Amino acid sequence: MIIVLKPDATEAQTDHLLDRLRELGFKTHVSKGEERTIVGIIGDDRLLQNQPLTAFPGVESATPILAPWKLVSREFKKEDTVIDVSGVKIGGKKITVMAGPCAVEKLELTVGIAHEVKAGGATVLRGGAYKPRTSPYSFQGVGREGLDYLLEAKKQTGLPVVSEILDPRDIELFLAKADIIQIGARNMQNFELLKEVGAYDKPVLLKRGLSATIKEFLLSAEYIMSRGNRNVMLCERGIRTFETQYRHTLDLAAVPSLKELSHLPVIVDPSHATGKWQLVAPMAKAAVAAGADGLLIEVHSHPECALCDGEESIKPAKFKELMHDMSKIAQAIGREI
Ligand code: PEP
Ligand code: MN
Repeated sequence: MIIVLKPDATEAQTDHLLDRLRELGFKTHVSKGEERTIVGIIGDDRLLQNQPLTAFPGVESATPILAPWKLVSREFKKEDTVIDVSGVKIGGKKITVMAGPCAVEKLELTVGIAHEVKAGGATVLRGGAYKPRTSPYSFQGVGREGLDYLLEAKKQTGLPVVSEILDPRDIELFLAKADIIQIGARNMQNFELLKEVGAYDKPVLLKRGLSATIKEFLLSAEYIMSRGNRNVMLCERGIRTFETQYRHTLDLAAVPSLKELSHLPVIVDPSHATGKWQLVAPMAKAAVAAGADGLLIEVHSHPECALCDGEESIKPAKFKELMHDMSKIAQAIGREI
């Protein structure tokens, strides 16, 4: 249920309404816009059917939300959400490019790549300290010291950092050391992890599960938001289909579709979506044209020696060229990079 308050509703009237809803056992989320305050009520709408909500002073309308997700929906919030990550605004006119190695390896290498992606125009550094690998015998990431390498890279370049959490017990570490916490595709439905990151206001990059529908994806975002965290970004990273020519199939229709259904920023990861460095630039450009608010791109100075995903990593020179091409596309559709 969404309750829209009248423009001249007083604070006392708002509090009266919120007190009553609390008394009835509902959780509320208040969104104060420039003209209107909107109250989202979390819980079973059917239990509100017999409540005379529009009889409350200050209330203009009460409308049930039809979508199964509520806080992430456009019905709840009409304007695009813009998330401030240490000064980098994600979800506005400017498209955010997050780039860096798949995995954090050595300190010097991480810092070196950070300088290179910054020179190319990236505004966020990516890098996994903990890697969710299909095989237990593959490189699992350097672990917590990887977050320190990223911090050093941030200190030298000023780039905020996105890194993936695998274990809810590491939350304090990530709150202290990462600017954006990534939930990877394999953990999109790890509900305990979603609830954990939902309990803070640290920005979260939620990746779409390998076989997740748009509905399941949005419901996972709803898990995070329903715990209070409003700083959620959605990342399309390719889904499993019958096609085996590339690693996954990039579902670009997800971009306008998610933007229609939700107010959250939509990011595209053309690297994991294709698994082939040759396909990364064309798909990154297509993502910009489709309306993505950001990109997550794997860049490595020596992909042939990378400990993880070298085959889909592009070199810094290619990244720079791609940034140049994407900025022309962005301009053509009234955006910037
Ligand atoms: C990653 O971004 O490092 C990653 C593992 O991606 P995904 O979860 O999309 O496979
Ligand atoms: Mn990777």
